[in-house]
Amino acid sequence: MFWCPGCDGGHRISVGEGAGPRWGYNGDPEAPTFTPSVLVTYNGADAGEDGAPPAVCHSFITAGRIQFLSDCTHPLAGRTVDLPDFD
Ligand SMILES: [Zn+2]
Repeated sequence: MFWCPGCDGGHRISVGEGAGPRWGYNGDPEAPTFTPSVLVTYNGADAGEDGAPPAVCHSFITAGRIQFLSDCTHPLAGRTVDLPDFD
């Protein structure tokens, strides 16, 4: 799990062996890198209700920073921010 400041919520990504999509992980909890990019669609506060297109959160997580791509529907689209601490 990581805390996403764009969505103001947690996103779950899976690493290692197992079912479902898996991401590559550099093994560094202080400056994690996940590959490939993380694409989340959801019915959030900003979009997706009542048949509208879902909200999109699309990011690269590299060395502890989140690079939000321009197709995000939240205000941090196109920006790069530090990955917040999240227990
Ligand atoms: Zn997000």
